[in-house]
Amino acid sequence: MKRIYADSRPPLLNPRDIDFLLYEWLDVAALCDRPRYREHSVQSFDSMLDLAAEIAVKRLVPHFKTADAREPYVNPDGTVATLPEMKDALSAVGGAGLLAGEFDYEVDGYQIPYVVSRAATAWLQAANNSTAAYLGLTIANAHLLARYGNKEQIDTWVRPMLDGRYLGTMCLSEPHAGSSLANIATKAVREDDGTYRITGTKMWISGGDHEMSDNIVHLVLAKTPGSPAGVKGISLFIVPKYLVDDNGHRSRRNAVVLGGLNHKMGSRGTTNALLNFGDESITPDGRAGAVGYLVGQEFEGLALMFHMMNESRISVGLAATAQGYTAYLQALSYARTRLQGRPLSRTADSVGEVAIISHPDVRRMLLAQKSYVEGALALCLYCSRLVDETLSAPTDADRGDALLLLELLTPIAKSWPAQWCVEANSLAIQVHGGYGYTRDYNVEQLYRDNRLNSIHEGTHGIQALDLLGRKVLMDSGRGLRLLLDKILQTASLASALGDPLTQWAAALASAARRVEHTTGLLWNNGDPGGALANATLYLETVGHVVMAWVWLEQAVAAHGNTGGFYDGKRIAAQYFFRYELPKTTAQFDLLDSADRTTTDLDEAWF
Ligand SMILES: Cc1cc2nc3c(=O)[nH]c(=O)nc-3n(C[C@H](O)[C@H](O)[C@H](O)COP(=O)(O)OP(=O)(O)OC[C@H]3O[C@@H](n4cnc5c(N)ncnc54)[C@H](O)[C@@H]3O)c2cc1C
Repeated sequence: MKRIYADSRPPLLNPRDIDFLLYEWLDVAALCDRPRYREHSVQSFDSMLDLAAEIAVKRLVPHFKTADAREPYVNPDGTVATLPEMKDALSAVGGAGLLAGEFDYEVDGYQIPYVVSRAATAWLQAANNSTAAYLGLTIANAHLLARYGNKEQIDTWVRPMLDGRYLGTMCLSEPHAGSSLANIATKAVREDDGTYRITGTKMWISGGDHEMSDNIVHLVLAKTPGSPAGVKGISLFIVPKYLVDDNGHRSRRNAVVLGGLNHKMGSRGTTNALLNFGDESITPDGRAGAVGYLVGQEFEGLALMFHMMNESRISVGLAATAQGYTAYLQALSYARTRLQGRPLSRTADSVGEVAIISHPDVRRMLLAQKSYVEGALALCLYCSRLVDETLSAPTDADRGDALLLLELLTPIAKSWPAQWCVEANSLAIQVHGGYGYTRDYNVEQLYRDNRLNSIHEGTHGIQALDLLGRKVLMDSGRGLRLLLDKILQTASLASALGDPLTQWAAALASAARRVEHTTGLLWNNGDPGGALANATLYLETVGHVVMAWVWLEQAVAAHGNTGGFYDGKRIAAQYFFRYELPKTTAQFDLLDSADRTTTDLDEAWF
């Protein structure tokens, strides 16, 4: 990659790290030998990465703070005002073809590997995630429709989204139904012409209203009359803000009306709306209800959404990572220049002040951040590479294994960065001292912005239930077996490379055996409720073991190479193995004890 972006102000990501992960670790260049990616080369990958980095620096960074200070608002005429710079940045990304990167040629995409596309969008997420979020939602929406929509739906909605003219949303949540989508109340009634009329209220809809695109394509979960109870009765509909005419041109307003904007702690540039579908103020063709178009078959709604979940959740994990990563680099840069205090060994006034980076405690905080954000980036790109395996691996068996491993790792790839990269954000504030607590620096905003990621797209607790209650049980536990085999293979490779890798390999192998043992204990003691009560502890424990594996993998890839970059990888791996992995021993002990502290208490005791 062009090195100039390494010196951007503020620093966003480390391009050397991205090169290392893509080319030295994940061997992304080898994908070019597969039929799906035959037209690509390392040069085309680098061009996309450079382009994203350039747009990030030139178009997204400049309004990072303004988007926070001047949050979207509702004009007297009911339209939603956002920063003009935001619209320009979104147009630049669409115009540069970055939205279409990973999509198939047949929908006018460039069929670039998913892993490269995610690394490219990480630049945008690091620069200004509240603007990049519109793109993430649009890409997720377009993926779903490109896979499950019919030709007309793809032509009408997907193509304009991929060239940036339309933006997309995901409308799942309702005021009373967030984690429990089984309880959604939005209704869809079929008309004679095959369209549906949608009525109901959706809450928290990111990108739900604005004037930054010709149209907004809402993907809406709703229930048809007489549908089965619970999630089995949910169907999925396209409900655009504007209907389109027979020529595909935007025509009149659909009955999707803004109820109000939510005023958030962070991520403020992304509008977040309460939307009333079927609001009586608009009656298309003289009839009540918003016009909607069924995607797939009735009752398939949640299943279709879930098929796209892995990719959406990796994207959220990457957003969390990118915001932690830039904060780390900004803290590092601050620590190199801030003079304060004297070396521990020499306190006399005659000794000059040193930059705070020389204090061991500041180094501890920086190393913690480095190990969290570089580790999280590695995990998210590993999972993205698995998406490419599901699309291009040579055999059905390889593709199936990749999908199973991806299913298992997804809750971790979403939750681990959302937890630990926010911790990195907190440490970045700490490194800045009092200045970190002010709006003069970016780190406080990054912390606020990043706090969202353990809440949306399935909360931390819901990810934990997904991992322990669903993913480790899938295919009789074969996904977990695949993961543990991979971990043990890495440990075996690393143990032959001498200390410290041999020591780390032994620690990792022992932790992997505990994952197997603890999972068995939890599910074999005849108390599923008790097992699931500790699901979050399980998620966090296994998450740390997976991260130790990712660090050992990086240490193996760096082995034998000299220079500051590789030494940096080794010291961050060392930090993780000495400071972080040992924490899991106490967590495994607690899990194994079938602890009931959180279940056997009376609500009155709070
Ligand atoms: C800024 C923002 C953007 C969002 N964007 C979108 C969007 O674009 N589209 C969309 O559809 N939604 C969106 N959401 C909604 C988001 O997905 C929900 O907030 C989330 O799913 C949680 O739902 P809830 O807020 O109703 O909380 P609740 O479901 O009420 O959960 C509250 C707490 O209880 C816990 N909890 C709930 N059920 C269980 C359970 N069974 N077991 C254990 N713990 C449980 C949760 O983990 C959480 O800690 C967004 C939310 C925010 C804040």
